[in-house]
Amino acid sequence: MTSRYCVFGNPIAHSKSPRIHTLFAQQTGQDLSYEAILAPVDGFAGAVHEFITTRGVDAKGANVTVPFKEEAFRLARHLTPRAEAAGAVNTLTFDGDAIHGDNTDGAGLVRDITTNLGFAIGGRRIMLLGAGGAARGVILPLLEQQPAELFIANRTADKALQLASSFRVRGGGFDQLAGRSFELVINATSTGLSDTPLPLPPSAFAPGCLAYEMVYGRDTPFMAQARNVGALTADGLGMLVEQAAEAFFVWRGIRPQTAPVIRLLQAT
Ligand code: NDP
Repeated sequence: MTSRYCVFGNPIAHSKSPRIHTLFAQQTGQDLSYEAILAPVDGFAGAVHEFITTRGVDAKGANVTVPFKEEAFRLARHLTPRAEAAGAVNTLTFDGDAIHGDNTDGAGLVRDITTNLGFAIGGRRIMLLGAGGAARGVILPLLEQQPAELFIANRTADKALQLASSFRVRGGGFDQLAGRSFELVINATSTGLSDTPLPLPPSAFAPGCLAYEMVYGRDTPFMAQARNVGALTADGLGMLVEQAAEAFFVWRGIRPQTAPVIRLLQAT
């Protein structure tokens, strides 16, 4: 029987997840289908239950994207520790009546940085820009790499302080950055989508710094800022493919090769 998976979001037409998972399934010989489902903004739980009801025992799991990750967190009956820490779920597994929730975003980010880009996180000074869902989701996996420091900076300083204190690290507004420099700067704000530059002092990027932009498929002001002071830059396409690979592993117990999929998406 063909196992059924999907991604729920709103909007969802732009999603690359069906293509990525179809490539993974072909590569690993897994018999599965994966579709994109537009859930109504006020009807996420209903859309999940409809998927489970209409696909019956073949419904095995789903990915969840904007704006439903927090709702998926509340819907799941069992949560992994990384989903608990993130306060958000991007991967659901259906097991009879039970719905399990996981979050693979942070693992995807860490794997892209350490394996694909060959940049060790352990012992480095990291700055995480942003205090929204994407930032929260990657903090635990980043800390598990044992960096020398993790500093969270956000436009709304209070949100950075609150998030930082819940993970026992330091944080604040952009005005706290004078005199500080970091070897890895991760942009988890949504400014890349609106082409808004961030007020970062050039000295924030240490020599040899990697500047990682979570937004993908465009050259953002953050990437230009970093390049102008000699930092290496990367966009979030690798993270997108790696979080999908981690979800595929959660569901199928097989880890697909990501490099050929990243190359294919970069080329098209
Ligand atoms: P949220 O809406 O939860 O958070 C947005 C963040 O951006 C907040 O910290 C907000 O600051 C900040 N921000 C927004 N506008 C500005 C601005 N003009 N100047 C400074 N800061 C600003 O979004 P998410 O956390 O869910 O997502 C953030 C980004 O990460 C998205 O662009 C998304 O595409 C990307 N992403 C990529 C993934 C991948 O696989 N590559 C996975 C997940 C997310 P404030 O608190 O002050 O409002």
